[in-house]
Amino acid sequence: MGVDLPRNPTRPVRIGSATIGGGQPIVVQSMCATKTTDVEATAAQCNALAEAGAGVVRIAVDNRDDARALAAIRQRTTANLSVDLQENYRMAEEVAPYVDKIRYNPGHLYHHQRNVPWQDKVRWLADVAAEHQCAIRVGVNCGSVDPARRAEHPADDVLSPMLQSALEHCSLLDSLGFTRYCVSLKDSDPAKVVEANRRFAGQRPDVALHLGVTEAGMPPEGILKTRIALEQLISRGIGDTIRVSLTLPDPRKVEEVTAGRQILADIAAGRVRSVVDFAAGLNIISCPSCSRVENEAFVELAAQVRELTRYAAGHALTIAVMGCRVNGPGETDDADLGLWCGPNYVTLKRGSQSLGALPYDQVLPRLKAELDALIAGGMRDKG
Ligand code: SF4
Repeated sequence: MGVDLPRNPTRPVRIGSATIGGGQPIVVQSMCATKTTDVEATAAQCNALAEAGAGVVRIAVDNRDDARALAAIRQRTTANLSVDLQENYRMAEEVAPYVDKIRYNPGHLYHHQRNVPWQDKVRWLADVAAEHQCAIRVGVNCGSVDPARRAEHPADDVLSPMLQSALEHCSLLDSLGFTRYCVSLKDSDPAKVVEANRRFAGQRPDVALHLGVTEAGMPPEGILKTRIALEQLISRGIGDTIRVSLTLPDPRKVEEVTAGRQILADIAAGRVRSVVDFAAGLNIISCPSCSRVENEAFVELAAQVRELTRYAAGHALTIAVMGCRVNGPGETDDADLGLWCGPNYVTLKRGSQSLGALPYDQVLPRLKAELDALIAGGMRDKG
């Protein structure tokens, strides 16, 4: 179920019953936010997302309990399933029998078995994927770029390490004869998403691309940020599958799919919007939530942060609100102020510095105080 637009001549990649690239219509994807171990709720969300038009549905699997649940979920849905491997790439072996695609992040491969070269890990992943007829997504993310690549470039050049990482993984997979893969290059800044994907497509026009703006936040801003990036890429023929990552409560998760389909339909019809410069004002980024969220108050907190900070709309500052301790600590580092949510406490940060962990009901006044201090400091600087 996709939208037909002229595409770059990428190689086709089959993901279960869906095919991306190879001139196929663009496929909309989404991700479950339910606890993976809640088999009934996760299967129901997979089915709801597929029914809304998601050609691929991603599920988070972090441990053996999740992997066991995945086997049961597979029995309850015909959706094409994908799994995100986080730091433990060896989970691939346990999930591959039940899914159609595995996503690995080149920036996470170093965490386990540090003495094993990343090339050997990718070779092993490709073997597992081939054995179980899974596609692979090489998912490069701005917040977790391979530290070895990052060290080779100036600190203010965030795109070159991402590109280098993606390109070298493609070369390796090609050399292994594994071509059933696509690539994603995600950032929370739509302009960087456009630039990274344009540069990648210039060098590897044959590789299918999965597009998205990570941690886009809540609707409507999250949809608008994604729309800006997708309009510019898709109208250039770049992109074979998309995800609109939105911070939404569980029952509204299908809105990711309807938003994606609407954006594609608008681009196909020439209904494109003028570009909005998010860097000019307050930018709130928040993750779309997934099964790793340990306190459901996260989604509400993200909305409260947006309400609380409206008064600062004219200030060029970024506030990041992240749902878990897996990716939250790293992905708040680049924001002016960051919050990441644990089971009982929210850690507040200024840049990469932690300001402490506060109970959910105490974090907002402290956030406001920090925001006021930043604004006052900025105004003094300008004066
Ligand atoms: S930050 Fe954590 S909760 Fe949010 S989407 Fe990423 S992994 Fe899931």
